[in-house]
Amino acid sequence: MSQNTLTRRDFVAAGAACAAIAGGAGALSLGSWSPAFGEDDAPANAVQKITLCDGCGNKCAFTAYTVNEKFWRAIGCVGYPTSHGFLCGRGQGYAFLYANENRVKTPLKKNGSGDFEEISWDQACQEIGQRLTAADPGKIALYQSRGNSTFYPKRLMAALGSANCYSDAAIRDAGITATIEGISGAYPAPDVANAKYMVMLDKSTYDGMRPAEMAEFAKMVENGGHVVLVDSRETSFGRICDEWIGVKPGTELAFLLGVAGELVRTGHYNKDFVAANANGFDQFAAAMKGYTLDWAAETTGAETTQISQVAANLWANAPAAFVDMPWAGTLGSGFANSADTVRMIYLINAMLGCFNQKGGWLFPDAPFVSDEMLAEKGIPQLTTDAPIITYADAPLVWGDSIIAAFEQMQAGNLTQMIVVEGNPVLDVSNGNGVKEALGKLDLLVVLDSFMTETALLADYVLPLSTFLERTDTIVTASGANAVAGLRTPVLTNTEVDGKSIPDAICALAAGAGLEAAFPFTLDDYNRANAELMGISYEGLLREGISAIPGSDAQLGTMPHLRTASGKIDFASPTFEAAGLSAVPTWTSPAVEAVNGSLRLMVGQEVVFQDTFCDASPYLMTLAEKYQLQQAWVNSDTAAALGIADGDTVEVSSPQGSLTVPAKVTELIAPNVVWMPAHFGSIYGQAEGTPLFGAAPKPLIAWQLEPGTGAGMMNETAVTLKKVGA
Ligand code: SF4
Repeated sequence: MSQNTLTRRDFVAAGAACAAIAGGAGALSLGSWSPAFGEDDAPANAVQKITLCDGCGNKCAFTAYTVNEKFWRAIGCVGYPTSHGFLCGRGQGYAFLYANENRVKTPLKKNGSGDFEEISWDQACQEIGQRLTAADPGKIALYQSRGNSTFYPKRLMAALGSANCYSDAAIRDAGITATIEGISGAYPAPDVANAKYMVMLDKSTYDGMRPAEMAEFAKMVENGGHVVLVDSRETSFGRICDEWIGVKPGTELAFLLGVAGELVRTGHYNKDFVAANANGFDQFAAAMKGYTLDWAAETTGAETTQISQVAANLWANAPAAFVDMPWAGTLGSGFANSADTVRMIYLINAMLGCFNQKGGWLFPDAPFVSDEMLAEKGIPQLTTDAPIITYADAPLVWGDSIIAAFEQMQAGNLTQMIVVEGNPVLDVSNGNGVKEALGKLDLLVVLDSFMTETALLADYVLPLSTFLERTDTIVTASGANAVAGLRTPVLTNTEVDGKSIPDAICALAAGAGLEAAFPFTLDDYNRANAELMGISYEGLLREGISAIPGSDAQLGTMPHLRTASGKIDFASPTFEAAGLSAVPTWTSPAVEAVNGSLRLMVGQEVVFQDTFCDASPYLMTLAEKYQLQQAWVNSDTAAALGIADGDTVEVSSPQGSLTVPAKVTELIAPNVVWMPAHFGSIYGQAEGTPLFGAAPKPLIAWQLEPGTGAGMMNETAVTLKKVGA
């Protein structure tokens, strides 16, 4: 029985209003846009300013309205590629972060009893600086998630003589970076509004789209475009697609191999495009021919006709057709075959010849600002020749695997760590392993706005200003063109002695006697970048966003490819050098649900990401009201285990266990437990408050996908039982 509550027709009706407005957006100034969305009822003393959201990596630009130093309303910017006049629900709720008073208000130092004591910034930075400079530089590590002002922490690391810088790529998008850098060097942006046929993967773990894409999606649907979801779980997004093809978890690669095999066998690929732009296509095509429809159907659980139909429809609608590649969820880190899943997405789209075609993949010409170029603008280069100790585990992403780093930490090869805006105890796999590794450190410093499970383990906690109160480094966002954005403060908070990331890092550098590493201000750095992008820095400060001249995607042209061959590497020397197959090849998921075990899959609810969104009281109210913390279990699987909808169940793995209410549904594959990975955190919660929900990522085993060091976040077997049964 269908549990759909929102039909495609409902969505088109709702989306049409958005699309009508978005369609006219090009002719609307910010001034004429805002009244349509509520400026009319703004108090007379409301102040408006454009800044950037921090609810996820999209960093959408929005107009922040404040009244008497309180946040009043957020409206997405029309001219920014990720927002296009909208903010998603998460962005709207996260903007009210200011209402949370449970901030880290001053630097904290742990005393001999394990309690935190308040100290000054000067004292904290001097003590930390002395301990960092006394350490072996090769054993100092940095972990930074959320991607804000990353230039500064990395530069401090270079000044210290360490290259051990890790992001959250291993739990998110390592496979996407590996693919693009390994086989083409060109970064696409989907032209959703004009697409006639779109295949989406990974909605299991990422239940949403960028706000701009959502508006474009409404337009596409209105125009009769067709959207297919290939996934093991039908999310709320899936319910507004035309078709859901349920596949076994971790077999999306087999589905794509089957599609590519069919395109090769039928000759349905753009031969002119391939002849002009492909390297190693014959080797690729020979390999694809072996992936028959019968094999793909057997492997995925889909029908042969579903696979052949997707191949036929992609070709029939090319070049206004593509397989989507979202930078979200766990598309690039979920399974043992994630990198090749992403590689197949890229190569199928290349076979369709949809590059820089209306309704296909667009490649805006975003300016590349190099260290050498910045040096000419007064930002001297600072690099280190030191090796990153995890390179061998993740050569395709230059060693950027935080999971490999924690393994090295457990082995004693990393002994100091700085964490900037991250909560790896709950947001990376194997929480107890992370705690144990952090416990072995000689020094742990955490920079954050709120107390977290990771900060509790730190020797020092340094308070950061929230995104509404600070300036960060300049960013760019890409759609049909590239646009620069700058986050600047919209609120001040005199009760918190917090700093922006650049200011906090400069203070740490000064404490370490390394102030010479930063002989420029943040203003200098942002100005240099703006000038190299060809935009006015004064204009950017005033307007918050600025379109980059000459960056529009040029329809009908090839993007600049940065491979040694100068072409798209269908057979990749880079992958081969990393010990992988030159062409994509089938790798089975690492976990098989046998002997009563189930596969644990983790993901996100539309209005949350990681645990940091828990600091928004508004989002937590939504989570509690709509009971967003549930473990999805297939109806047949639940029946076999004697579990009914709403029962409290225990989920256990060798790494730990948790209890959570069960959601029994037909909208997920059998033998899987899916959970959102946001809850059960103290992040921003008042001390002593009972926690809402439980965090599933600590149950995941540490595993490294070959080549990328990605965490294989959906490859852990768990057991499930009803509590009290
Ligand atoms: S997608 Fe949503 S949460 Fe992410 S930056 Fe945009 S508005 Fe914020």
